[in-house]
Amino acid sequence: MMEVEGLTAGYGAAPVLHEISFQVPAGKIVAVLGANGAGKTTLLRTLSGLVPATAGRILFDGVDLRKESVERMVRRGVAHVPEGRGVITELTVDENLRLGGLWRKPRPALDEIYELFPPLAQRRDRPGSELSGGERQMLAIGRALAAGPRLLLLDEPSLGLAPRVTAQIMSLLRDLRDRTGLAVLLVEQNVRSAMSVADEALVLALGRVVARGPSADLRDDAELRHAYLGF
Ligand code: ATP
Repeated sequence: MMEVEGLTAGYGAAPVLHEISFQVPAGKIVAVLGANGAGKTTLLRTLSGLVPATAGRILFDGVDLRKESVERMVRRGVAHVPEGRGVITELTVDENLRLGGLWRKPRPALDEIYELFPPLAQRRDRPGSELSGGERQMLAIGRALAAGPRLLLLDEPSLGLAPRVTAQIMSLLRDLRDRTGLAVLLVEQNVRSAMSVADEALVLALGRVVARGPSADLRDDAELRHAYLGF
């Protein structure tokens, strides 16, 4: 579904990402792992066009996303949930979700999203500012799902959340993959959580891919775990 080839990108003259290549198959969860500063967030931001790529290709269903506007990318089925969540705290839960579905025709019914996240249904008329950290993460994912994506780019969903809430979010991703065929590119510092749900994984170090493959194989590789994953 997504094929990334030789992607090089950064914020100034010196690249942060160096010739990154990997694939996200339809209906699979692929984890992006690595230490602080390895380039995980930069990779997601480059895939969704927020950081300019200086070389390489980002193919989605064979179309190079580097030439697409954000609107066209969303319409094609790619949605990004940024680190820090990006919920608009002045808007209500319902308004945030409607915003996510703005480019979708016909406009999505939000009932399905409220079914996935019951705590949001109870607060649909409350402003984002009143939500807990876990509820804000649910809202950020819900807003991305309102766009009807086939690929979700999800940055650090576990950040600042209690283990129980993180486990709920991982289980939801697994469920969406199995029920709807959603593909997810999941950036995580929490390696154990990510490995519990990912089919495949990609390990970054200093902006380069140092390992990739089925997540079970990477989990069993003690040398790799010790060198790059910290456990
Ligand atoms: P973390 O888990 O800490 O967010 P990460 O793996 O997501 O780490 P990035 O945030 O992508 O790593 O950072 C990769 C490199 O890019 C780091 O050296 C960082 O200092 C640099 N960097 C990140 N954002 C910017 C920016 N806006 N401008 C300049 N350099 C940046």
